[in-house]
Amino acid sequence: MQEDRKTPEMRAQMTDIERLRHSTAHVLATAILKIWPEAQFAAGPPVDNGFYYDVDLPHRISPEDFEKIETEMKKELKANHPFERMEVSRDEALDLGKKGRLAALNDRDQPSKFKLDIIENIPADEKISLYRNGDFIDLCAGPHVMRTGNIGAFRLTSVASAYYKGDEKNPQLQRVYGTAFKTKKELDDYFAMLEEAKKRDHRKLGKELEIFVLDDDVGPGLPMWLPRGAAIIEELEKLAKETEFAAGYQRVRTPHIARESLYKKSGHLPYYAESIFPEMVVLEEKERKRRDEINAEFAEIESNEDPGALGRVKTMVRLLRENVLLGDRYYLKAMNCPHHHKLFAAVPRSYRDLPLRLAEYGTCYRYEQSGELFGLMRVRSMQMNDAHLYMTPEQFETEFNAVNEMYLKYFKLFGIGKYLMRFSTHDPTKLGQKFIDEPELWKQTEEMTRNVLKSSGINYVEVPNEAAFYGPKIDVQAWSVIGREFSIATNQVDFAQPRRFDLRYKDRDNVDKIPLCIHRAPLGTHERFIGFLIEHYAGNFPLWLSPEQVRILTIGDEPQLLDYSRAILNELRSHQVRAEIDTSTDKINGKIQRAEQMKIHTMLVIGKRDMEANAVSLRLHGKGNLGAKPRGEVIADLLSAIKERRA
Ligand SMILES: [Zn+2]
Ligand SMILES: [Zn+2]
Repeated sequence: MQEDRKTPEMRAQMTDIERLRHSTAHVLATAILKIWPEAQFAAGPPVDNGFYYDVDLPHRISPEDFEKIETEMKKELKANHPFERMEVSRDEALDLGKKGRLAALNDRDQPSKFKLDIIENIPADEKISLYRNGDFIDLCAGPHVMRTGNIGAFRLTSVASAYYKGDEKNPQLQRVYGTAFKTKKELDDYFAMLEEAKKRDHRKLGKELEIFVLDDDVGPGLPMWLPRGAAIIEELEKLAKETEFAAGYQRVRTPHIARESLYKKSGHLPYYAESIFPEMVVLEEKERKRRDEINAEFAEIESNEDPGALGRVKTMVRLLRENVLLGDRYYLKAMNCPHHHKLFAAVPRSYRDLPLRLAEYGTCYRYEQSGELFGLMRVRSMQMNDAHLYMTPEQFETEFNAVNEMYLKYFKLFGIGKYLMRFSTHDPTKLGQKFIDEPELWKQTEEMTRNVLKSSGINYVEVPNEAAFYGPKIDVQAWSVIGREFSIATNQVDFAQPRRFDLRYKDRDNVDKIPLCIHRAPLGTHERFIGFLIEHYAGNFPLWLSPEQVRILTIGDEPQLLDYSRAILNELRSHQVRAEIDTSTDKINGKIQRAEQMKIHTMLVIGKRDMEANAVSLRLHGKGNLGAKPRGEVIADLLSAIKERRA
């Protein structure tokens, strides 16, 4: 039951929950066969958050069938059959398949066609095994839970169509999805989280709260930020700039495009070509003239019946070739590193200049497949909280530690309680192929990274064989308050790029040496991070991040009252508070309702009595009316909450 054949080692790494979910797929097949004995099954692996099983069946399974299927599945759980593993010879397996006995409850008229095909694709040296629960026998390499009764709770979730092996030349199958957990409570919590996540969907809230838009004429995956979104961006950049400045970073600025030669040097061309936007060919005056000549020549040939035209066509081909070779090719930048490396190299560096930390909120463009684009999470233009740190090997541990501390500080500020760093390392057997052939540097940097992770008490797992080509990397995953998982950022240790760019510093011994480089982006990209924040806060941003921090709502429209309210507005704005005023003739309840809908953090309701007492009535979004308070006190509180970035 495998779509991409998993190696036995990969299967051994199946987590407990994957094992449980995959076992539920067998139970699903068992139940479907009890209802439709002619069903033919293909692959049934665990997937993110659940499992599926692909089935070929004349009856079209719909969600209306789920209850019936689930009832049969429950019987199978109650029976508490063991999952028995049986190893068989290839001939025995083929024999059973021909009798229709694989992924079946009994022998059948039709062979188990997909299972026979899967057997054909099992490498000759791999053992073939079957798993049995009750009457159901399946071709499967495992692993499974001990008994069907170990499956605590499950639910079928959807059905879709899928081609066998994902190839549209193959038959179309029905893919039945479900999920399973150890306990009923975990299952219920999961669906409650999904419900809540739907309400918090950043695409929905982003529109309602006027944060960002996507527009077909601008292009798919190219979000534009409305003033409210731009306000959040400004705050995040301010935070990053302050934090980085205090940590000794220096800011740089680089263009959005660069010549082809830069990306050839970095290796992005050709290795990363499919993720880069197609080139722009820039023609200079001379080249434009050439192009016009070619066009004139073409026109001439078209209008000419001359039998000797071949010679002229040949000339044309030559000219065209030349023209293609001419011109200057530029690319939109997909990452900032090559530009930053050039800035490192622009000035002679000595060990005294290191560590050098170059930071930029750089805008990058990546050509993601249109099918992959998703709200703010997968986009084609992104503004990255980027920096490149250049250092001597001796400085690595301190620098890397400081980067981690920055992460932890941000997590705390944003109330991210659960996070995980996935530390991806190299596989020594793949040096020179998948990983750059520098065994000593790999060993050193991985060991240093591991030490820092261990000693800082950061929550991390080590994943072998998943490092970047040029060094170990750390992917940071964070969970929103409702338990949804997001990939936020990647950190990379790089000892290859500095070499490709021939970066040097003069060391104490007066010898030129190559620095190490750390790529880091703790706040990821604005796009992904704000997408995360919208869902994390459900649009209820803390005051400092709120697009509109304060709205003044007047009760009535007497000139004196409006003057008083405007004076407060001006005072707030003079302190850079994002404040607005609602002076419409609506009733106060209507004004409050509108402000609550837009999730305005603080509302100052101002009536005649407030004015006479030089006070304001304070109202917080979702918390209701907090009563009248002295104007000066309220403003001072607002300013300190913003300054301290209080939650
Ligand atoms: Zn299985
Ligand atoms: Zn980089």
